Amino acid sequence: MLVLSHVMVAYPGAERPALDDVSLTLQPGEVLAVLGPSGCGKSTLLRAVAGLEPLAAGAITWDGRDLAGVPTYRRGFALLFQDGQLFAHRTVGDNVAYPLRLRRTPRRARRARVAELLELVGLTGYADRSPATLSGGERQRVALARALATSPRLLLLDEPLSALDLTLRERLAADLRAILREAGTTALFVTHDHEEAFAVADRMALLRAGRLVQQGTLDEVWRQPADAEAAAFLGYATVLTGEPAARVLATLPAPSALADAFGAGADDGAVALRRSALRVAADGPLRGRVLEARLTPETLRLRVDVEGVGVLDAVASGGLADAPAVGASVRLVADPSRLAVLPVTLETPVESLD
Ligand code: ADP
Ligand code: MG
Repeated sequence: MLVLSHVMVAYPGAERPALDDVSLTLQPGEVLAVLGPSGCGKSTLLRAVAGLEPLAAGAITWDGRDLAGVPTYRRGFALLFQDGQLFAHRTVGDNVAYPLRLRRTPRRARRARVAELLELVGLTGYADRSPATLSGGERQRVALARALATSPRLLLLDEPLSALDLTLRERLAADLRAILREAGTTALFVTHDHEEAFAVADRMALLRAGRLVQQGTLDEVWRQPADAEAAAFLGYATVLTGEPAARVLATLPAPSALADAFGAGADDGAVALRRSALRVAADGPLRGRVLEARLTPETLRLRVDVEGVGVLDAVASGGLADAPAVGASVRLVADPSRLAVLPVTLETPVESLD
């Protein structure tokens, strides 16, 4: 089990620490995603765990043992970066075998292990290929196989999919989860992409400007972002406060856990809405006027001026031909699974964060 307690990392000359009072726990076999914008300290976190960055305060332990003073190569962790950094002049098989060679694994055992790893990452038969002949996604699979070769007790993944194009990224995210599961690997996965975090991890921690904002299971974080900024980073499009928020919640069928949670927050509650939280429905309880309609591959997206609430995104089924005309009146229903009640006081109402 990996435990970070009150970890601080400060680069010389920097205005603020790159990591400040970060505490988290990673259970055996668990995949934890650390999600945050560029520059928030994700790579620094991985480097600190790997032993590549000294701590200014706090401690990192593995199974209760303090790792301070344990050099990187003695930690038994493996690192995988955005660019898998394969040896260009070695075959795929030799790349994967490299850490086994360093450990002086006998040739026969090495070959068997390479075959097993290539099968695990879906590249059976690729052993003799040169990395130059592979796609970006295939190269990252090889890098993953190499990282897993010596069965590290912890795998540290630094945005391993972010150099890939979108479709590939989505597929590889799902594959990555399956591969980590099958290998039973404990992993710390950092990313700036919430979809990736949801696709790969069991638990999630939000990092912002070197501080941990929130952590929990995917479901917990998803259902209750810590604040408006966290909601925005998790892909919520809008945050409503006050009367507009209350109006949307009042339309949910009773009993509603969301409405109760909002009521408990008294005057300072806020509600985050995903872009598809409102849907056009003939008998919907909210009324609005269409400002804009746009067909996307998945759905028809609308901007609607909702009575007593304000301008919000909404979706409608069907194609552009069925789309309500700009200026038309529509009725809308809110989907509670696409709303979240935020627990904190907001200084100022935040709207349309995107
Ligand atoms: P992320 O991986 O989330 O993009 P980093 O951990 O790379 O963030 O960086 C966190 C902060 O620390 C940034 O402000 C960055 O500029 C700074 N930083 C990173 N590495 C160094 C370094 N070697 N020296 C000084 N500052 C650094
Ligand atoms: Mg980084």
